[in-house]
Amino acid sequence: MESKDMPPAELRDAFEDIGKFAFEYFSNIENFDVVPKIKPGEIKKRLPKTIPEKGEDIKKILSDFENIILPGVTHWNHPGFHAYFNSNSSGPGIIAESLSAVLNQNGMIWKTSPASAELEEIVLEWFRELLGFSKEFTGIIYDTASVSSMHALAAAREKSGIAVRTKGLSGFRLALYASEHAHSSIEKGAITLGIGLENVRKIPVNNRFEMIPEKLEEQIIKDKKEGFKPFAVVATIGTTSTTSVDPVREIAEVCKKENLWLHVDAAYAGPTAMLPEMKKFFDGVESADSIVVNPHKWLFTPIDLSVLFIKDFDLLRRAFSLVPEYLKTHEDNEVINYMDYGLQLGRRFRSLKLWFILRYFGREGLQNILREHLRLAKLFEKMIEESPRFERLAPVHFSTVCFRALKKNANEEELNTLNSHLLDSINARGKIFLSHTKLNGKFTLRFVASSLRTEERHVRKAWEIINEEYEKIFET
Ligand code: PLP
Repeated sequence: MESKDMPPAELRDAFEDIGKFAFEYFSNIENFDVVPKIKPGEIKKRLPKTIPEKGEDIKKILSDFENIILPGVTHWNHPGFHAYFNSNSSGPGIIAESLSAVLNQNGMIWKTSPASAELEEIVLEWFRELLGFSKEFTGIIYDTASVSSMHALAAAREKSGIAVRTKGLSGFRLALYASEHAHSSIEKGAITLGIGLENVRKIPVNNRFEMIPEKLEEQIIKDKKEGFKPFAVVATIGTTSTTSVDPVREIAEVCKKENLWLHVDAAYAGPTAMLPEMKKFFDGVESADSIVVNPHKWLFTPIDLSVLFIKDFDLLRRAFSLVPEYLKTHEDNEVINYMDYGLQLGRRFRSLKLWFILRYFGREGLQNILREHLRLAKLFEKMIEESPRFERLAPVHFSTVCFRALKKNANEEELNTLNSHLLDSINARGKIFLSHTKLNGKFTLRFVASSLRTEERHVRKAWEIINEEYEKIFET
């Protein structure tokens, strides 16, 4: 084999094979177990131990992909995937991802990929308009919500007036506020930015798992008295455990009074802002300084693609820009050089995926899919509510239902153990995959219905499986 790249004709033929593979895969996806029945280390054992001395035929590599890799994947695209939050790849997303690899655009600066830079601006303007967010917001794409939120908090830190770029935190004790149900990425952001975990205040929630604004205000006042410098609050629309919605409008009023940055984490639920009937959950977002929404969660975009909307876009530049000589260009004053607005220099051409998806499905197509997911979640909720075997443990706002099974005379500890067994035996069947959380000490099962390929028949099948496993564990 020659030490040159694959000839284009061979690439074309391999693409044909991959097209056939994708066709077979999506046509038969229901036949796979959602989570592979393998033990840790099994894939490693089957993999070749060393690099081949001479290059191998692509057909052989593709065949190993099918025989070794495929049996070891968890099928996120499976209609029975009801765990965590869904992350699906759609046809147009897959096509755009492939094209992006063909072109290999590195959008460090405008000049290194004018199309990538300009498409990002336009597609995020479409996306902002689709979600009905105010024109004051400018969008930027990062890989994940964790990274988007970290950048939002870096902008907030920059705004706080501390010369952190040059002097570091210089003894300032910044304090960050989020509900006890905020995603762990917020705390990771605090670690990364030198805020420190002890200075992340976890504000209590009410019985609907929503942040209590009065408690937030009390904590800020207390911190200021004790010499802390409060700088930002994170509110969540669609928390990870229960999909609860913090009262953004009231939190925004506290932020305004105290001059604090308000970041809204709508990583999961954000896409539903495109539905007029869901606007109630986004009440007050126009007062936020930044909002994160993940198309790679509930907008059928192959991972990864997260969008940060921020009002003062230039703050990101002030927080991050450092331009070495070799990256200076004549166009710098006319264009967006995205490397200036974040930590990374090299950037993938992610906007292409969102552009393909928004065009392929269109506003109406996307709205219809999201509405169907909301309907399926309500259907599952109804099944839970009408069954004496189960109880719902949190309000159902979006596509996630939190529940547990019940047993007469069992105490909380026994119920936790039984529900944990129930989850394991449901998942061991392989046909569906659910995840769990703990709510007020109760082991809680989570059922999510936002997969592009989940239909009503899948939800009914899942209900059947859950009940069959219930009978085995709770009625013996
Ligand atoms: N925010 C919320 C509310 C989430 O549920 C998650 C993950 O599920 C994240 C942030 C982190 O997302 P990512 O994996 O894109 O960093």
